[in-house]
Amino acid sequence: YVGMADLVTYNVSGSPTASGVRVGDETFRGWPMPGGKSGQFSLFAFAWNMPLNVTPLVYATGPGGDEAHGQMVINFPKREQPKYRVRDLQIDDKFIEKVVNELDPNGSGDMVERFVRINSGMRKANNETLANLKTKTEPKFLWSQPFLQQPNTKVEANFADVRNYIYNGKRIDQQTHLGYDLSSTQHVGVQASNDGRVVWAAPLGIYGNCIVVDHGYGLQTIYGHLSEIDVHEGDMVKRGQVMGKSGMTGMAGGDHIHFSMQLEGVQIDPKEWWDAHWIKDHIARRVELPTA
Ligand SMILES: [Zn+2]
Repeated sequence: YVGMADLVTYNVSGSPTASGVRVGDETFRGWPMPGGKSGQFSLFAFAWNMPLNVTPLVYATGPGGDEAHGQMVINFPKREQPKYRVRDLQIDDKFIEKVVNELDPNGSGDMVERFVRINSGMRKANNETLANLKTKTEPKFLWSQPFLQQPNTKVEANFADVRNYIYNGKRIDQQTHLGYDLSSTQHVGVQASNDGRVVWAAPLGIYGNCIVVDHGYGLQTIYGHLSEIDVHEGDMVKRGQVMGKSGMTGMAGGDHIHFSMQLEGVQIDPKEWWDAHWIKDHIARRVELPTA
């Protein structure tokens, strides 16, 4: 289902120039099996806006540009079919002023229009910047254990919740929320969800002060709205390592951590990656993870 990732292993005969998995108009790279084993594997995902009837296909391109396809069987845990919620978010002048003054300090004109421009246009540009970080991934697993949910946090918003922005009783915007909002105490230490390398540690529009950690093979975690960033681009981080402090920078009305994940630049639901059983069944049984 949408937001869900999986891993497939396959063999290609001949000498393909490229292979991987196609899901609709998205392409996920294939990689040589780790540990010197023969064959290829690919991590792939259904984007949040992918039609449900799209079937993922393994593809391989030959030296002449010809393309071969293979079918695969996918078993998604049906019990976990999520229900996407539509929520009305009441916003007031105070919130609009906070966001506009922070993210569009030199602009002029109607405050509500500027807010909507930030929430739609800037959000889109920021998501593109995040997606482009897929070029900074390493061709190996930098992690070996399940991903951590920030400890002692309450989930305030789920992956792919649809939000109506209501101002003075009128809907002024609608956006899809591609992550989890995790709240705890104010200025709580933000922990790396898993081992990896920092590929972004800077302000990023609606995400405020933002950190992105690469975990290898196109898989990355994103942490937004921080009040403080204590790592630099290029740093290696360990699972549970504190990288900064939570806050409300960017499009945030209260102190929380916006946490999300992306695979090859496609934002995905982190839920499965937090689940040790899912990691075992879908990843560790199919490819060799490094030992902890
Ligand atoms: Zn959020």
